[in-house]
Amino acid sequence: MKGKIIKGIGGFYYIKTDEGVIECKARGKFRHKSLKPMVGDNVEIKIENGKGVIEDIEERNSELFRPTVANVTRAFVVFAMKNPDINYDLLNRFLLLCESNNIEAIVCLNKMDLVSEEERKEIKEKINEIGYEVLFINAKEGIGVESLKERLEGNVTVLCGPSGAGKSTLINTLTNRDHMETGNVSEKIGRGKHTTRHSELIEVNDGYIVDTPGFSTLEVNFIEKENLKYYFPDFEKFNNECKFRGCMHHKEPSCAVKDAVEKGEINKYRYEFYLRTLEEIMNGRKY
Ligand code: ZN
Repeated sequence: MKGKIIKGIGGFYYIKTDEGVIECKARGKFRHKSLKPMVGDNVEIKIENGKGVIEDIEERNSELFRPTVANVTRAFVVFAMKNPDINYDLLNRFLLLCESNNIEAIVCLNKMDLVSEEERKEIKEKINEIGYEVLFINAKEGIGVESLKERLEGNVTVLCGPSGAGKSTLINTLTNRDHMETGNVSEKIGRGKHTTRHSELIEVNDGYIVDTPGFSTLEVNFIEKENLKYYFPDFEKFNNECKFRGCMHHKEPSCAVKDAVEKGEINKYRYEFYLRTLEEIMNGRKY
């Protein structure tokens, strides 16, 4: 029987199947392969002596850590339009993290009521230009939430964004829950040690929402510097047009991306953000 792990607690996994949710343990063989089932995994299970056992784990399309979730396909990148103002460096960083994790990002701008229609239009155009869809919402009032719900279908969606953007409110609205213990999901184990987060997938609209906001760390050092350019959808047309193969659009001559910036075909700010990130990766700096 096939299913999807929606929850894991103390060595037990809860698998959503066509026949409902089944509690399972993992086969010992996974331990030898140092493969641990993750929430979000698509698995093959078997019932043995009335107990569920995970037999096999399908290859993952993506792996997120902190929170630990596999096969996330979509992210709602949530920012407030005001209070606080949009921090574009931060927005670009979240978009980059989505791209590098093979996750399709949709920008959701909350507190839409705090800015004028003119301002909304301007911001929408700017973000559309770099290749992302924009949705406006007022999470508190539930305005615009329907269009987010529509986009859950067939996806495993994570919400990410800075604190104060309204992610928790939005997760609760989308999942029809009254409250969420956002502050308590992590438990520090000793100083400087890793943090454990138990995420759960909540089924909504023929899709799933991760109940914990994604990307608790904004580190980009795991990205190979040669790959960075592929995570900028607005560079795509130009990436292979440079004189030098493997051009990183940095100090190389006859660079198609730099030309496109000159001609205004690539947003100058995006290119500067790219350069800053490239240098950060090359220098191994921490964010
Ligand atoms: Zn180049």
